[in-house]
Amino acid sequence: MTDIPVRIRPEIAALPPYRQGKQAGEGVFKLSSNENPFGPLPGVVAAVARAQAFNRYPDASSPRLSARIAERYGVAPDAVHIGAGSVSILFQLAQATSGPADDIVFSWRSFEAYPSLATVAGATATTVPNTPDGRHDLVAMAAAVTERTGMVLVCSPNNPTGPIVTQDEFDAFLAAVPANVLVVLDEAYAEFVTDPAAVDGRRVLAAGHDNVMVLRTFSKAYGLAGLRVGYAVGHPRILDAARSTGIPLSVTAAAEEAALASLDAEEELLERVRVIADRRDRLVRLLRDAGWDVPDAQGNFVWLPAGDRALEVAAVFEAADLIVRPFAGDGVRITVGEEESLDRVVEAARRSIASE
Ligand code: PMP
Repeated sequence: MTDIPVRIRPEIAALPPYRQGKQAGEGVFKLSSNENPFGPLPGVVAAVARAQAFNRYPDASSPRLSARIAERYGVAPDAVHIGAGSVSILFQLAQATSGPADDIVFSWRSFEAYPSLATVAGATATTVPNTPDGRHDLVAMAAAVTERTGMVLVCSPNNPTGPIVTQDEFDAFLAAVPANVLVVLDEAYAEFVTDPAAVDGRRVLAAGHDNVMVLRTFSKAYGLAGLRVGYAVGHPRILDAARSTGIPLSVTAAAEEAALASLDAEEELLERVRVIADRRDRLVRLLRDAGWDVPDAQGNFVWLPAGDRALEVAAVFEAADLIVRPFAGDGVRITVGEEESLDRVVEAARRSIASE
């Protein structure tokens, strides 16, 4: 690329661009972005079509959707913030809490946006390694919190490794972290969880922890990744600060309509979630039978701990027209997709372990 004289912050210039999985073509399964294989329900599409007033700006703060979510959590509407995907709220919270003198603590490997949001805020990323079975080490994470820490990110289930954080682990963690540190509980995949020991954000908030922010999204279980809508629930004062850092009116009217219609169709959507969770459990068993040491999977994805062979293993999948997400030197994440993709995934898994 040719250089231009415009000054770019060096730490931003050094950031890798957000990597999106490749797009699928004919006969190819795209299992690289933890998307929902089911299309939107007809009622959701109809609600967006009915909205029509797209010549007008959307309602700032998406009041109808905030009110619906507030009702479910038993909180005031200003304790809910709607964002253009939960990733945008993560960036807002980083800006609101953490600057150049501060650090943001998170487990690694986890969601790829975490290091970037620390850099964009000008803060330092402090990472704590996952345990060998892909779990957060919350005791070590609490120990990594210092007076410089502005925010801690806890991801349950953890993207990309799969396991949850338990309620007991999280409670002990909160007891060990000072009340002036924001703790974000990123529950992007919570609807897929079947382990009853998992932390429950709603329960944490009900217990009155004012420094906890719970993040959810409509992208995964609700299948609205393309419309970009997610939310945070937590203390209104923290959310006011986050709102001040956001781009005004970034949540579209179409996204708000679709999210509301999805809540109306929740039974049907959660039935699909159960189908995906069953498919996931089956896939984990088959991959373990094939010889892969797959960690507990509680999201809509599974993790092959391929280590240095991650790129090579992903290439075996790609040769079989399966687009998966490799993390060089670490592992390969595979989204639980269409039923018809399973046999092919298991076959590629067998082949890639055999080539060791
Ligand atoms: N958190 C986690 C852990 C994720 O994996 C993702 C998406 N990959 C997000 C947040 C953001 O999702 P969205 O912006 O689509 O709501």
